Amino acid sequence: MRARNELPVRTRVSRQCGRGGVRTLPRRARLVGILGFVLCAATATAPLHAQANPYNDSLLVTVRALAHAVPGELPTAVGYLSVVDDSSPESDAVADAPKTRILEVTPAFQVRYRAGWIMVDAAESHKAAGSDGTYHQDNYDQIQTALRHARLIVATHEHGDHVDGVLVSQYLSEIAPRTMLNAAQVHTLLAKPAGDPEGLDSARARRYLVVDYGLVLPIAPGLVLIRAPGHTPGSQMVYVRLASGRELVLVGDVVWHHAGIDMQRQKPDTVSRAMHEDRTPIGQEIAWLKNIAEPAGIAAAVSHDGTALQRLVRRGFLTDRLNLSAP
Ligand SMILES: [Zn+2]
Repeated sequence: MRARNELPVRTRVSRQCGRGGVRTLPRRARLVGILGFVLCAATATAPLHAQANPYNDSLLVTVRALAHAVPGELPTAVGYLSVVDDSSPESDAVADAPKTRILEVTPAFQVRYRAGWIMVDAAESHKAAGSDGTYHQDNYDQIQTALRHARLIVATHEHGDHVDGVLVSQYLSEIAPRTMLNAAQVHTLLAKPAGDPEGLDSARARRYLVVDYGLVLPIAPGLVLIRAPGHTPGSQMVYVRLASGRELVLVGDVVWHHAGIDMQRQKPDTVSRAMHEDRTPIGQEIAWLKNIAEPAGIAAAVSHDGTALQRLVRRGFLTDRLNLSAP
């Protein structure tokens, strides 16, 4: 698990991300519509940087209202599959947590509608994942199929274990035009060293959909993006309201284990600093999840916490499979 150096797996993943010079974005566009499915509304809220702490009660009111902004049937399920199963001590992921080993996963999520689906994250190939943990090639193949046939693909953030599947794929000509990256994600990917397979150059970046938004963006019935910078500049959470009435937030790597929300603790300081995280907004995001979202009955799905994801399966918020049946 930590064989090659002293840092946990997720940190090693991040350290593969180079930090080159800042380049100009190839385009910063507001997306008007994708297959008639996506509404890219201008947000009613002020720009993120203009607010002291945007993660408050009114954000929840706004997100819930925007879940109904795009007309159409709400999603019926959120499923996930992991390509890497591993474990690590809780204390590697959450400051001051016990050393209990926790199941770690590297998932992609499918928000399933009756008439198609949207993918959140894309996991990573075996080559990108390396030799840690148990790699599930069959799951990666299923995820690639899901990406090829998704109406839209979004990413919680621009780290390789979440976007490799849309940056490096034999099906890139099908997948890239369906992948909607936010401007900050593209900015980070453009800054990686030339030739990095998990980066972008300006020519490759033009193959993707690029959008810029303030704090919130409804993208489909029951689906709202929430900007959540800190772990990376382009990090975002994905709010989902299911037809059943259940609500969840796919939080990406705001925390690595759900205990980070329970305890309101971030990643260990040394880890966080090595990853160049901005801990101020992360603290606000964790507090919002703990004190506002979860008390309102909204489940927080933490990408890498396999144990917590299984708990959400048992509670009916998630399914541990993808549904690739034709609409
Ligand atoms: Zn990750």
